[in-house]
Amino acid sequence: MPREGVLVMKFGGAALKDGAGVRRAVSIVEEHGGDNPVVVVSALEGVTDLLVQAARSAARGEVDVEAVRVRHRSVLRELGADPERLDRYVRELTLLLSSISARRDLRAVELDHVLSFGERASARIVAGCFEAAGVPATPVDSYDLGLTTDSNHGNARPLPSEHAAVQRAVSEVPGVPVVTGFLAKDSAGNLTTLGRNGSDLSAALLAEAIGAVAVEFWKGVPGILTADPLVVPDARPLERLSFADAEELGQLGARVLHPEAIAPATRAGVEVRVRYVEDPAHPGTTLAESQDGAGLVAAVATTKGSLSAVALVGAASGEHEASATRALEAAGITVGWTELSESGRALYLGVNSRDSVGALRCVHEALLAPRVSNDGPT
Ligand code: ASP
Ligand code: MG
Repeated sequence: MPREGVLVMKFGGAALKDGAGVRRAVSIVEEHGGDNPVVVVSALEGVTDLLVQAARSAARGEVDVEAVRVRHRSVLRELGADPERLDRYVRELTLLLSSISARRDLRAVELDHVLSFGERASARIVAGCFEAAGVPATPVDSYDLGLTTDSNHGNARPLPSEHAAVQRAVSEVPGVPVVTGFLAKDSAGNLTTLGRNGSDLSAALLAEAIGAVAVEFWKGVPGILTADPLVVPDARPLERLSFADAEELGQLGARVLHPEAIAPATRAGVEVRVRYVEDPAHPGTTLAESQDGAGLVAAVATTKGSLSAVALVGAASGEHEASATRALEAAGITVGWTELSESGRALYLGVNSRDSVGALRCVHEALLAPRVSNDGPT
C-alpha cells in the first residue's frame, strides 16, 4: 500500500553542520513534515571531503581517522548524546583504511565504501536526535530500501526501482525513516555512490518510488534565486518555477539542485520544493510542471566556448531581447550576438568576457529586479 501523503524532506550537509543544525532539522520535520515524513540526509558538512582525504592517505600508507572521529564526536556531544555512539563505525572505517593502506591501492569500490561512512553516520545521528526529542525514528541505509544502480563506482546511475517493493520497505520502517542519501548498491550487492551532491538525487528517486506528494530540499538558501546572489545582491527567490526552466538553469550551471534530481519528480508528478533552513516559514521555491510560461525567471552569466553571455531563462520574448539589449547598450556594453538555446527556453546575449559581471547586473536590474514580478507589473 502506498503511504498516503508522504513528504520526503532532504537535508544536505550545510543544513547538518553542527548539533544546532541537526536539532533544527529535527524540529523542521516535526513542524512541517505532516503525518508521514520520510527524511533523507547527506553526510555532516565537510565529512565527505574528510573521507576522500582519509582514503587517499590510506592509499599512500597512512591510516588516520582522527578528523572523522572528532567531527562526529563533537556533534554528538553538542546534542547531549553519547559521543562514543558511532565508534563501531569508526572501527569499521579503520579496518577498511588499513586494508587499503596495506595494499597501497584504492579501488573505486573501496572508496565508495569509505564514503558511505558519512551518510551512515549522519542518519544515525539525526535518528538519535529524533528519539531524544521523543519522536520514534529509525536510521535506514538507502540500499536496504531497494534503490539500485549500475556498477559505475563513484558516479553510479540509478536503475529503475521496483516501486512497490520500495513502498513496502519504507512502510515497514518503525517511526520516522531517516534515510542515507548518496548511497546505493549495484545488482551484485556492491555499495555504490551517486556522485558528489548525489543526495538530492536519492531523495527524488525515493519520492518517485513511494509516490510522495512532494519532495522538499531544505537548503541554506531561500529557494532558487533570480541570479547568483554573490554577483547580484538584489537577486530574489522565485516563488514558482517550471521543471523545464529549472532544468535549463541546471544546465547553465546554476547549481541549486543536483541537475538530475528533477527528472524523477517530473516522471512521477511529485511536487518539488526548495526551502530555507534558516527560515522554515519562508515558502521557498515550488517547482511544478504547470508553471510553464510564467515569463522570465532568472539571469545567468555563462560562457559558451570562448564567448561570454548573459542567459535569460524562461520564455524570453523578442520584447525581452529588445529591452535587455537597450539596457546593456545604455550601460556601454556591446551585445555581440544573440541566440536562443536549443530548448528555446534561454536567450543568450553575447558580451565581452570582461563585461559579463556588469552585464548580468544590468540585465537583472532591467528585467528581473524586485519591482518587476514574474506575473507582470504589480
Ligand atoms: N555527502 C555527499 C557529498 O558531499 C553527498 C551529498 O552531500 O549530497 O557529495
Ligand atoms: Mg553535500
